[in-house]
Amino acid sequence: MGFDVEEKTSLIAQWIKDHDRIVIFTGAGVSTESGIPDFRSPGGIWERFDPNEFLFDNFLASEKVREKYWQFHTEIYYTILKAKPNPAHLACVALDQIGKLDCVITQNIDNLHQNAGLPREKVIELHGNALRVTCLTCKKEYDRKAIQQRVEGGEGDLRCDNCKGLLKPATIAFGQPMPFKEMKEAESRSTNAEVFLAIGSSLVVYPAAYVPLYAKQGGAKLAIINLAPTPYDHQADVVVQEKAGVAMEMILEGVKKRV
Ligand code: NAD
Repeated sequence: MGFDVEEKTSLIAQWIKDHDRIVIFTGAGVSTESGIPDFRSPGGIWERFDPNEFLFDNFLASEKVREKYWQFHTEIYYTILKAKPNPAHLACVALDQIGKLDCVITQNIDNLHQNAGLPREKVIELHGNALRVTCLTCKKEYDRKAIQQRVEGGEGDLRCDNCKGLLKPATIAFGQPMPFKEMKEAESRSTNAEVFLAIGSSLVVYPAAYVPLYAKQGGAKLAIINLAPTPYDHQADVVVQEKAGVAMEMILEGVKKRV
């Protein structure tokens, strides 16, 4: 017999009460309630842009691809700028404030965990951040706003004013090496987690999708909160098919409830 969402979220709340090292792993689904569509649901951005075209090697090799990539990222940038944190992001902050949150490991590039109020050091960004731009050669970092003005001024192939290297949004394209420090940190935090919540991720994008498995192998209780089924549902202790904001509010309520 299956359990309903209320029973499942109160079970997760009880785990959180009983443990201290809670690690939360988030994907695009945690931000859809903020108005940022995920990429894979119907109508997502991959129906309009071809992900294969944006492989990192293609970005390096072709000026035409770089121009198109900046258009694609202009669309993402403005969607992100309009978005505000939703109850799921705020619940992560609330868990931090009561001393339960070890960290958030996110695949998102939208800065919404930080905008919600999580300290920067509590957020491990596996796929970078769209509000920054990096030079691929000298690694100089730029604020996105200034670079966006250059894009809109007609520059299609942006170059570093320090070394003339290629500029790229500070996010990880398909085929681009993952950030080493962040991946190591994510692995060790997950392995040491007592409770691990994977929220709003299809768990099909690798190597990020290994992260919940590190937690499981390390002995954590694993909850998956996602609208659609994921390939790891059978490994989870609890699967909640509910909106992230709704489920996280219910969990938070349960955590605050006195026994
Ligand atoms: P994904 O698009 O592959 O999957 C998102 C999942 O979230 C889907 O399975 C969907 O069923 C679920 N979902 C959608 N709305 C939900 C909600 N309200 N509550 C609960 N679940 C919901 O996302 P992914 O696994 O994060 O991988 C996609 C890649 O695209 C990531 O690398 C990420 O960096 C990037 N991305 C980021 C953003 C962002 O920063 N907000 C947005 C789109 C894509």
